[in-house]
Order: sequence, then structure tokens, then C-alpha cells
Amino acid sequence: MPSITTPDTTSHAASDTPSMPRLLFTDLDGSLLDHHNYDWSPAVPWLSRLKERGVPVIPVTSKTRSEILPLRRALGCENAPFVAENGAVVGLPADWCHARLDRHIGRDGLAIQTLGVDIGFIRQRLNIWRARLEDMPGMAFTTMSEMTLEALSDFTGLPESEARLARLREGSEPLTWEGDESGLEALRQGLAGDGLQLVRGGRFWHATGHSHKGNAVNWLIERFQALKGTKPQTLALGDGPNDIAMLEAVDQAVVIRGCHGLEVAPQQAALYRTEATGPTGWAEGVAYWWGRDEHRVTPAALQASGGAEATR
Ligand SMILES: [Mg+2]
Repeated sequence: MPSITTPDTTSHAASDTPSMPRLLFTDLDGSLLDHHNYDWSPAVPWLSRLKERGVPVIPVTSKTRSEILPLRRALGCENAPFVAENGAVVGLPADWCHARLDRHIGRDGLAIQTLGVDIGFIRQRLNIWRARLEDMPGMAFTTMSEMTLEALSDFTGLPESEARLARLREGSEPLTWEGDESGLEALRQGLAGDGLQLVRGGRFWHATGHSHKGNAVNWLIERFQALKGTKPQTLALGDGPNDIAMLEAVDQAVVIRGCHGLEVAPQQAALYRTEATGPTGWAEGVAYWWGRDEHRVTPAALQASGGAEATR
């Protein structure tokens, strides 16, 4: 695991400080973190530079709060907010709290906002629909909270210590579907009446409210404006279909080349697609939009192949 080096506070830092405050939103897996080994060392120089400039690097991820907390410390992002469970949960450090709206600050110094639906309600409705539809032949599922730690670890490939953190849900419940299409449709319709939806993820289906990464990013931008009285310039980076709403919610966006073959096509005029994958692509994308103009990084390979999809 790489560590964050002490920022180099040389004299150019002041002239580097942008006049408009900036916020950076980033997906983790496959974006800031390597898809295979979770390394982020290629992004460390930019993480240091952004910290030096006072630009918050805000993780926006499908991970749970419990999974993010140790990661944001290791990344040096502990002064920034974060978004967990694909937009259902937002964590706010003290600087981002509103004296009237965030009264419950935890021992970890964070106020937690649940933008989606409370996990207790989601689990209750799943149980109710399972009971109501129990005579339906194609109706069978297991929620993550019903799986033993060992079964979850086997199913996901996570070590048990990490599987335990993945199970601490606050705003979405993953489930494995063991029934058929008709059962799935019946459950989907039942949950829709409760204001819930079923979203397909990589390994699991997720029962959630109607929160997504884009809503959470908009919520944080509005919070920033309410607290600071000024509009920030915003950048977001992601590699997957669940990042699209986030990439559409910001001023400038980067699609990081993915390792999954899925199409990621946000409606966003200020879009840059990276050549590199993972944290190397992440650094390439940040440099594209926020590298100092005289040092703008435009990969030679990209120029040769006809350039980025869009430029500012
Ligand atoms: Mg990703």
C-alpha cells in the first residue's frame, strides 16, 4: 500500500491556488484504486498536490461507510466528505456540517446523512414481500445480512475481516437471486409500491431507495454553496455505468478506461476519456482538466489517434 508523502510546500503553491474553489469527486474501485490489486500509488503525486491546494478529494463509491473509513485515512482524504453505498449515505466531517442541520456528530467526528431509505425499512419490506409471495414458485433470494460471514467471504472473495465491513449496511441491502424472472418481477413490483427499487450490481442485486451517486454529488455541491456562499468548480472521475449520474452532475468529467467492457456514455459536453486504466488513468484525467495550462498533459498517443472525445 502506498502512503501519502508530505506535500511539497514550495513557493509555487500560492500561485497554483485556483481563484474558484474546487471539488473533486471520485469513484474508487477501478478508478482511484486499481481494479486488481487496489494500489493507488500512480495517483499519489496528484493527491499530494490537491491536498496542498486545499481541494477536497471526495470518494463516491458502492462501498459501505465501514469500508471507506480506513481507506480515506490511508488516502489522506480524512478532511473530505464521502459518499457510500452508491449515494445512499453521505459522511460529513466537521467543516462540512451545518450547525442547525447536523446535530448528531459521532465519536469519529462525522455526521452521517442517509439520503436514501433507512436500511431497517428496506429489510422489513423484503421480509414482508417474501412472506406475501412465498407461494410463488420463482420467488427465492438470500440477503447479505442473512448470509454467514464464511458464505459471504466465499461468494465475494473478500477476506472475512473485509466481508464483515461490507455487511455493515446503512442504506442498501444486497441480495442474491435464486428464483426466476417472474419471481423477480413480482418482488420488483412489490418494492416499487414501497418506494424501493432493485438495481443490478456485479455480484448482487441491491434493494435501495431512489438515491444514486448523482443525487449525492448534487447534495454535496449544494451543501458547499450553502456553507461557503460560493459556487465551486467540480470534477468527477469514474469507470463504470453506476458513475454516469455523477459524471453528469459536475462541470468537468473523466471516464477512466475500464477493465469490464461495459459502455459508459454520460450526457456531458466536458468529457475526457483516458488512455490508461485505474489510478494511472485517474492521474491522466486530473492532469487533463486541472494541470497548469502551460503543463497540460495531453498524451501523445491520444493526439495521434484523433484526440479526446471532447475538450473544453
Ligand atoms: Mg468503479
